[in-house]
Amino acid sequence: MNKRIHLGLIILLSLIFIISSLAFFVFNIDTVISQTRVRGISDIRQIMIELNKSLSTPGTDRMEAFQRIAYEQSIRIPAHIIIVDTNSNLLANSFLKAEDINGRYINADIVDAKEYGIAGSAYRLPGVPGLSVTVAGVQELLSEPIVIYLIYSIEDFQGLYRAFTAFGLGLVLVFSSMILLIVLYIQRGYQKPIRKLIQHTSAAVHGGFSKITIDTGNQELSKLVLNFNSLVDRYNELVKSDNWKYSRINTLLSNLNTGIIMVNLENEIILVNPRAESLLNLNKLNLFNVRRNNEEPNTILKEILRITRKVNNDQQSKSISLNNSENQILEVVADSINSKYHPYEPSGALVILRDVTEIRRMEKLKDEFVSNVSHELRSPLTVISGFVETLKSWKTLSEEDRTTALDIVEIETERLKKLISELLHLSRIEGRMDTDKFELFNAADIIREVITVLAPLGEKKGISTEVVLPDSEIIVSGVSLWYRQIVYNLYDNAIKYTNPEGSIKIRLSRESNIHILEVEDSGSGIAEKDIKHIFERFYRAERPGKNKVPGSGLGLTITKYIIEEFSGTISVKSSDLKGSVFSVRIPQEDRVKSET
Ligand code: ADP
Repeated sequence: MNKRIHLGLIILLSLIFIISSLAFFVFNIDTVISQTRVRGISDIRQIMIELNKSLSTPGTDRMEAFQRIAYEQSIRIPAHIIIVDTNSNLLANSFLKAEDINGRYINADIVDAKEYGIAGSAYRLPGVPGLSVTVAGVQELLSEPIVIYLIYSIEDFQGLYRAFTAFGLGLVLVFSSMILLIVLYIQRGYQKPIRKLIQHTSAAVHGGFSKITIDTGNQELSKLVLNFNSLVDRYNELVKSDNWKYSRINTLLSNLNTGIIMVNLENEIILVNPRAESLLNLNKLNLFNVRRNNEEPNTILKEILRITRKVNNDQQSKSISLNNSENQILEVVADSINSKYHPYEPSGALVILRDVTEIRRMEKLKDEFVSNVSHELRSPLTVISGFVETLKSWKTLSEEDRTTALDIVEIETERLKKLISELLHLSRIEGRMDTDKFELFNAADIIREVITVLAPLGEKKGISTEVVLPDSEIIVSGVSLWYRQIVYNLYDNAIKYTNPEGSIKIRLSRESNIHILEVEDSGSGIAEKDIKHIFERFYRAERPGKNKVPGSGLGLTITKYIIEEFSGTISVKSSDLKGSVFSVRIPQEDRVKSET
């Protein structure tokens, strides 16, 4: 309960207590006094009767009679009795000393009695316990006026006071209980919704915004609850739209293939997206340390923070390439960023991290390819132009030399044609220029065709070719020329990379709805490190110490592209010097199966 309410209640109760006690006390004293007066008048009459009786007896000593009657009556009544004549001469005194009779108050009462016939007061007299109530009355005694003055001592005055106090207190208790009940009732009406409001606002402080469902029964409180509930609605809407915005940004940042790091003007990291974490090999603990203790867990991050510090200082964009521990090449571009609210004030730096390993590798491969192709183009052209020069002077040439020169020109022209056609082929397949029509063909027929063309080349090197074909036909749906290219490239490579007197095995088989083409050779094999790259454009495995085999590094790339067009896969098993097996797996379509 509120302290002010407590204090107010205490003051109110004290006032009730004081006022009611006083009221009761005054009321009761008045009652006692007036009752005593009534009694005093009858007591005075009785004394008069006794005095008359006594003084009518002849021979009675007047003063002695006064004193005796005063004494006797004072025991009966009981009260102190003083009898004076109209000149205030003392005739009798039952108790008080003479000097007290002349006291101010008693004199005043006697004077009043002489004037009005009867008078009286209430005093606290010295030497008289309790409250003294006086009654003075003028009487005619044997035609001589006298004043009989009675002093009643109300000794249980304290008891009376206590009784009054107890009564007052009881009254206060009843009143206070009633007031308390009323206050509690009113307070309950206020407190319940206020308590609810406090509960809800406290929960809101910790993020738990929920509406209040309570009937306050009070206009102001209802308004307050209504306002609070509207606030909750507004807050929930804001949170929803904020969450929506946040989740969009979060999804964007999480799925970006670009690493993002944000630092503030103090060069502290304030944002790192998952891609940046993985590029920099940072885990959550690293990040925590970086943020809390300014630790730089790896040199690459150290380098990045060095750049951002520079960017924060001069607001100039910076970009460098760095190598991380995974041997990736990272392109780091750091730029100054401005605050949303103060567009002209820088608020930190944004770092964009990109893994450019592949791009750089491709650039390198392209460069190598250009030099390879240039070389491949230049060498036959040099030979051709040389022999053309020679042929120009054919008159001095023998018939045999002329034929040899023309043969060489033809061979070199063929080489040039092959290289150019491979380049065109690659660009056509890469561009998915599917102008040829689909058809159904027997795979074995295509294999036989290729063997007829290429086997003599192998035989020239003393390489034998074994072909294992299935008994039943394997019908393939697609462009037969492309299938021919697959077989051609694999067989051609087998011949190229197999040493003289080696052997080649071509197998065609079926495994449920997949048909498998295998080209196995006893050739030079492929090193482990090269296997994962041989299907990439322009990639040629280096062959130190081995005879240089002409080629462009495009054959297997073209082969893989075509196999993918047939929805198939290609794999290779090989080890250095132990030959290679290329396996092509192409699924049979249902349509094809039903037609066969
Ligand atoms: P090219 O033969 O014109 O160089 P390919 O794309 O056909 O290009 O082959 C890529 C590389 O794969 C070759 O340079 C070679 O090192 C390796 N390779 C391909 N086939 C074989 C094979 N049968 N035996 C050994 N190495 C091979």
